[in-house]
Amino acid sequence: MTPHVDSQAGAAVKAADRAHVFHSWSAQGLIDPLAVAGAEGSYFWDYEGNRYLDFASGLVFTNIGYQHPKVVAAIQEQAATLSTFAPAFAVEARSEAARLIAERTPGDLDKIFFTNGGAEAVENAVRMARLHTGRHKVLAAYRSYHGGTTTAINLTGDPRRWASDNGTSGTVHFWGPFLYRSPFYAETEAQECARALQHLEDTIAFEGPAAIAAIVLETIPGTAGIMTPPPGYLAGVREICDRYGIVFVLDEVMAGFGRTGKWFASEHFDVVPDLMTFAKGVNSGYVPLGGVAISAEIAETFDKRPYPGGLTYSGHPLACAAAVATLRVMEEEGVVENAARIGETVIAPGLRELAERHPSIGEIRGTGMFWALDLVKDRETREPLVPYNATGEANAPMAAFGAACKKNGLWPFINMNRTHVVPPCNVTEAEAKEGLAVLDTALSAADEHTTA
Ligand code: PMP
Repeated sequence: MTPHVDSQAGAAVKAADRAHVFHSWSAQGLIDPLAVAGAEGSYFWDYEGNRYLDFASGLVFTNIGYQHPKVVAAIQEQAATLSTFAPAFAVEARSEAARLIAERTPGDLDKIFFTNGGAEAVENAVRMARLHTGRHKVLAAYRSYHGGTTTAINLTGDPRRWASDNGTSGTVHFWGPFLYRSPFYAETEAQECARALQHLEDTIAFEGPAAIAAIVLETIPGTAGIMTPPPGYLAGVREICDRYGIVFVLDEVMAGFGRTGKWFASEHFDVVPDLMTFAKGVNSGYVPLGGVAISAEIAETFDKRPYPGGLTYSGHPLACAAAVATLRVMEEEGVVENAARIGETVIAPGLRELAERHPSIGEIRGTGMFWALDLVKDRETREPLVPYNATGEANAPMAAFGAACKKNGLWPFINMNRTHVVPPCNVTEAEAKEGLAVLDTALSAADEHTTA
């Protein structure tokens, strides 16, 4: 775990990257990706000997940290015995992964359709809902992210959709609850909940209930700001779906597998969807894997009638072996309980204490290892520290905050005016405290841009 300096090797990696790798979501000529030499547990390091505490868990997926020896060994063993196999066969790693996932998903979500990631899971959940109901429209929330493929990006309710929105008919957006920046001018959680549910009812009424196949929601919207819904909201959506025969899809790609201090975020709200999408934490991202957990009723639709969808690498043995090992590690090492405990005893009080001293913190939201700091110019007006979807000079305050984190050895997750505190779910108390101390320093850089 000791980084060693090899500037020459780092320069070669960087040169090949800049010559040939076309990066996601980026202006290729403006980016300067860090050359990573290695990673272990909650840390990674570059070729210059700089080590970073990863408070982003990659892209919120390394729920058990990097290079867990048991998961690495399981992948190696699977590679040595049966490194790949086509989907239409029963393969031990695949059936065992499905069994372990089904054991943990709530209610009767007992059949697992495997994909290579979250977006494909969302694509297939929507297809299943449309075929099950014979309806076409799909409702999704603003302030959401569901993936980069055609249907998933159309459902996404944030600026990442804009460039790829091909106007697919049937996608309708509505506002979910978010009291801090309430779309409904609510002042209490109860008001926000009631108004959000009424708004959803109105949307359904005006779109035509008989045309709506599915409502797709992140249980706790992640990249859009970790906005825990008020008590009663998801139960209300469940009731609306039941009343109109609409399939309720919960996207747990980011919030699932321990992130919120429970196996699935839906458990906080005692709600069981008809379809649940997952990816990321299912195997800590060691090998690409995602999927849809399917209720008995929807699975029944495809019992005698073929399901018209599939992927060459569905349930890839290496990915499934990594999932089996990850789920066992999470059980053996109490990773979900750790996320809940460190969240409650270290992160929550630590962030509250930072909010007392840093005027740039407008609101702290979250649970477990899933927290957002909503940074503002002015606490009274709640004006975001940078404008919505800011780039370049307009984004300078967040860039300064990010640079201060990195300079002090912390890799942050930053999106618009927010930083998310999303370390691995097996983070230690000492690591969590180390990260909070760096945030303290970096927030001073953000404070300089407040009007307070
Ligand atoms: N849904 C949610 C809630 C996500 O956070 C993400 C990825 N951040 C996706 C779907 C898409 O997953 P992937 O990038 O694996 O396709």
